[in-house]
Amino acid sequence: MPELPEVETLCRQLQEILPGGKVRRVDIVDPRLGTVPPLAGGRVVSVRRRGKYLRIEMEHGLTAELHLRMTGRLLWLEEKGPVPRYTRMVIAVGNGRLVLIDPRRFATFSVGPADSAPAPLENPLEQFPASRLRAIAGKRRLPVKSLLMDQRLIAGIGNIYACEILYGAAVDPRRPAGSLTAAEWRRVEKAAAVVLSRAVACRGTSISDWRDLFGKSGTNQHNLAVYARHGELCRRCGGTIERMTMGGRGTWFCPSCQH
Ligand SMILES: [Zn+2]
Repeated sequence: MPELPEVETLCRQLQEILPGGKVRRVDIVDPRLGTVPPLAGGRVVSVRRRGKYLRIEMEHGLTAELHLRMTGRLLWLEEKGPVPRYTRMVIAVGNGRLVLIDPRRFATFSVGPADSAPAPLENPLEQFPASRLRAIAGKRRLPVKSLLMDQRLIAGIGNIYACEILYGAAVDPRRPAGSLTAAEWRRVEKAAAVVLSRAVACRGTSISDWRDLFGKSGTNQHNLAVYARHGELCRRCGGTIERMTMGGRGTWFCPSCQH
């Protein structure tokens, strides 16, 4: 599932290509995405990200909003030629085609007035202040890892980055969120900034099927300190990385230096 750094990677790549381009045609291959939106003939003004939504802003005040959900991905192709398997939508724009590929068909696409976006969530790529995190945590007893991954509270941190951020902060993922001190939340803030910005610089983490807009793997998988490293040595303290299951998800941490 694309997490925040992967969506940000797509956003930056789209921002390099789309603005100024005219939408020539929109083909909705999968009717679950809705009817053909009134985009043809208009020019793209900019591409932005709001949480894990990609927003293609058009002239005349329309915005197309796309969410990749579980298995959606975007691919930039030349004007002519076949499209890949599981193609759900093709937007012909400028001198190429933006293709939505989605084997499990959970991705969503909608077009509306520019100001129709939902209220932004906490956005850990732009600002993720410790004071705000502490306020969200309050006296909650749910594990801090589950809090970081709660998409109703914080946009776009999934399993990989939650494990990596808590390792960076030296905080045990099982700790009740409400038990972290102000100093520990500051460590989470710092670790999140490092982990997420490095992932964007590496164009995402290609553990399974993530590819960028041009079909290339990201390289951040080489930076992972704990994720999927159970049985290997902790680079910080030499302890052994362990795996456990939390909320149905594999969770990796170093019991020797994460408290
Ligand atoms: Zn360790």
